[in-house]
Amino acid sequence: MDYKQCKYCKDTKEMIMFNKNISSKDGHQKYCKECNKVLNRQYKERKATAEGRVMMPYTTKEFSTITDEELLQHIRDFSNEFKRPPTTADFENCNSRYPHTKTYYRHFKYYKKENKLSSWNDILLLAGVTPLDSKDLWSAWQYLVEKSASILEGECLFQYCGFGLDFKPDIYVPSKHKVIDAATSNYCHKHKVKQYYKSVNQGASVEYWCLKKNNKTGLYLPNLKYVFADEIIERLSVLGNKELCNQIKNLYSIYKDFDDTYKKHRQDYVIQKLQEFHKINGRSPYTRDFLGNPAYPSSTTVTTLFGTFNNALRKAKLPINTESNMKFNEDIAITDLLTFIYKLGRLPSTKELVPPNTTYTEKVYYKYWGGIEGCLNALGINFLALKTYAKNNGINLRLNSILEFENLHNRWPNNKELSNKNNLPSPHWVYDHFGNLPNLIKHLENNF
Ligand SMILES: [Zn+2]
Repeated sequence: MDYKQCKYCKDTKEMIMFNKNISSKDGHQKYCKECNKVLNRQYKERKATAEGRVMMPYTTKEFSTITDEELLQHIRDFSNEFKRPPTTADFENCNSRYPHTKTYYRHFKYYKKENKLSSWNDILLLAGVTPLDSKDLWSAWQYLVEKSASILEGECLFQYCGFGLDFKPDIYVPSKHKVIDAATSNYCHKHKVKQYYKSVNQGASVEYWCLKKNNKTGLYLPNLKYVFADEIIERLSVLGNKELCNQIKNLYSIYKDFDDTYKKHRQDYVIQKLQEFHKINGRSPYTRDFLGNPAYPSSTTVTTLFGTFNNALRKAKLPINTESNMKFNEDIAITDLLTFIYKLGRLPSTKELVPPNTTYTEKVYYKYWGGIEGCLNALGINFLALKTYAKNNGINLRLNSILEFENLHNRWPNNKELSNKNNLPSPHWVYDHFGNLPNLIKHLENNF
């Protein structure tokens, strides 16, 4: 065994009593661990005094001398007591009787590279505890949030698609214009911020219903509300909903059975929606009726849950449509188009001709009129005037963006800055309309 003399207390001690230091000759520091601690403390106190601060007296952290085996035993104890493996959130509470997850990572992940453990689940396995299958747990929680929200918030729409194609919140409460998202905990993540702004941009309020509360504060966003499992349980128990309360309490132990329950719950919701459609429209829906239709589940959801759309209709005890497509109705096509143009203030692009904007797609307008322009012509509407209007509108918008830039920076943008990123038109657009940037600037100086 190697020994070394400490340069401070002059004691000769075993090498492991010295902290590592890769830059020194023998790979260890010149002061022993104990002296190091004292010297560090003295240094911090001198620094604090110099900066006019007062340091709190030194206290030993509760788990500072814990061994690896003791750490693993805490994991076993937890899973024996709660009949489930701990999650990181369980061990993130500073006042808990369990060591902090950071202590685990320090012992098993960062400092002891030879362990090659890369995750919390690896540490659980080391303790001989089988990790949770978070995918199952997740769908179980989502299911419980959906059920609870239906009871506590009134009518809910699931996987609501009325906000646009890139945004489908888990739960939308139309009567309150509220978006509810099921989350594992109040963790901070860019993805959550994005989701929040997507809702807020639609004027909706946002709530994250969380399974776990960790002791971080969560995201600081205006009017964002975190609702935690214990609050949900409390509100449900006021309404006497004991069964659901117990399901939430026992979530971890019964999550394995939830996959089927969850599927059944979603199927029931779809069946209810199919029947609702039939009641309102006096016919069974076609897949296209559900394309981007915010009041109904998407046709993908229906086919994923039932295999085929017709299977879903059968389960809902509704007649199956024998004609492959909905009959063409000229009045609907025309009214849709005019309403949409009025709303946009310009001609729609072919991409925009989709439900719920219009009942029929571009293909249908093409088939009957040779396109939307043909349709407007047939109605005696001067589409050229509309088109010019739209075009000028587009040019003015872009010119305004350049004027705004000049206002802000007190100079004109250069070629390199021309980009959508800067909220400016592209060089290509400038070339198309003005030949080059100086021409465009000249035009602006003369006209504004
Ligand atoms: Zn020493």
